[in-house]
Amino acid sequence: MRVLVVEDERRMAAALQRGLRAEGFAVDLAHDGEEGLHLASTGEYDIVVLDIMLPRLSGYNVCKRLREAENWVPVLMLSAKDGEYDMADGLDLGADDYLTKPFSYVVLVARLRALLRRGGGRRPSVLRAGDLTLDPARRLVRRAEKTVDLTPREFALLEFLMRHPDEVVSKAEILEHVWDTYDTDPNVVEVYVGYLRRKIDAPFGRGALQTVRGAGYRLASDGG
Ligand code: CA
Repeated sequence: MRVLVVEDERRMAAALQRGLRAEGFAVDLAHDGEEGLHLASTGEYDIVVLDIMLPRLSGYNVCKRLREAENWVPVLMLSAKDGEYDMADGLDLGADDYLTKPFSYVVLVARLRALLRRGGGRRPSVLRAGDLTLDPARRLVRRAEKTVDLTPREFALLEFLMRHPDEVVSKAEILEHVWDTYDTDPNVVEVYVGYLRRKIDAPFGRGALQTVRGAGYRLASDGG
C-alpha cells in the first residue's frame, strides 16, 4: 500500500516515513500543500496523511480540491493540538478521519489500516458558505443549523452558485448549468434567485446571494 504523507515539519515527516515503512507501507513525502495536491492527484496512492497547517495550500484546501475533482482517495487529517481548527470542517470537506497531534503511532497505523479496509469514501464533500451548507449526496441544505427545504430546481441553482463561491456568474451560465437550455426566458433565473433568497437569506437576516448589476449573481463565500 502506498501512502502519501503531506507534512511540512520535516522531522515529523521523516519520522512518519520511517515508521510507516517499518509497518510495510511504501511512503512518499510532500512538504507543502501544492506538492501534496499534485502528488495525490496522480491517483498513485492508496491513502493520504494530510497535515492541516501547510505552506502554500492548507490541508483543508488540498482535501476540498481532491474531492471537487472526484478523487476519493482516503484522507486522514492531522491537526495541531491547540484546537484552533474545527475537525468537523475537515470531515465536511471530505476527509475520512483525523488525528490530533501528538498522536500515538500505534493509533495512526490502526486508523490507516481501518481506512484502507473501508476504501475510498466516494462521497462528495459538503459545500459550505459560512453557516450555509449543502450536501449534494444527501440533498440537504442547512442554514444556521436549521434544515431548509428547497425544490429540486432551487437546490440545483444553489449548488451551482456554491460551487463557484465569490464568482460572478451570468444568467446565461446559470441557465446553461441549471436549466440545460438557452431557450428558457432568462428572467426565470431572477425569479428563482428570489425564491432562494426568501429561503436561505431573508429568514436569517443575511445576504449571501448578491446581485451584481448588469453582470449576474454572486454567492458570498462567508454566507453573507
Ligand atoms: Ca504543519
